[in-house]
Amino acid sequence: MIRRQDLTVLLLYYLGYSKVRDLISRLQRKSFALFIIFHDISSIEITSFVNKMRFLKRFTNVVSIDDFFSENLSSEKMNIVITFDDGYRSNFTYAMPILTRLNLPATFFISSGFVNLSREAESEFIRTKLMAQPSTNQEDKGCLKYEDIERMVDQGFTVGGHTLNHCNLAYLRDRGKLEYEIAEDKIKLERITGRKVDYFAYPFGAHRNPEFDIAEILKQNGYKAAMTTLPGLNLIGANPYTLNREATPASMHIQVFRARALGNYEGVNFLKRCISSISDSKY
Ligand SMILES: [Zn+2]
Repeated sequence: MIRRQDLTVLLLYYLGYSKVRDLISRLQRKSFALFIIFHDISSIEITSFVNKMRFLKRFTNVVSIDDFFSENLSSEKMNIVITFDDGYRSNFTYAMPILTRLNLPATFFISSGFVNLSREAESEFIRTKLMAQPSTNQEDKGCLKYEDIERMVDQGFTVGGHTLNHCNLAYLRDRGKLEYEIAEDKIKLERITGRKVDYFAYPFGAHRNPEFDIAEILKQNGYKAAMTTLPGLNLIGANPYTLNREATPASMHIQVFRARALGNYEGVNFLKRCISSISDSKY
């Protein structure tokens, strides 16, 4: 189903907004990437997810976060970084085989407190920490096991931190607790993967705390970059601790996904800024 707010994105897509923007960027020699987020994928969304990945494979340049930072990007196609948040089992059972088959890199941001839980504990975590509805189908909504994460890393995928308990860092007033959520999660993930965990995604996209500089705490804990859920493209040289990412759920209409994957949502924000500056200038 196409939502009302997606109509402007589609309109810009058909008007060729992203083509003009890409041409201007090429002339200016600017490199950028669009980071996209998935969460859980249900069994009925698999076909839709496959179609989205096939589109990305054919029409975009899918890169890893490491590629983005080493500027290993295309100047011809939209560069896409695929990410998954929370650590749902469907990331392993449904998404990973498709990504592997198409040879697409991806990063899985995992809340390590959501790993290897019993059926009862995982349902509780989903309800109270991820603010989602547990499913009756275990394959659809459940947590990852230690061996799933080991397999992900063995297959070349990247694992990133997402706090121990999927904490909204904007609301924490206890610095010790905030640091523990970040540091303990990183230690646990590094123990499971046997590798350094360099990247972090803010749960709920909450990257600002009125009392503490979260980015500074991430830096002190050895994180090289962190992702928000703010929409927009990421230019090379952007602040690595507030990288934009756009939510593109597996259920999203394929035509809307295509328009967004080519960067047309940025055009919607551009239009909004233009309209608000015109209305401001009237007063
Ligand atoms: Zn999350």
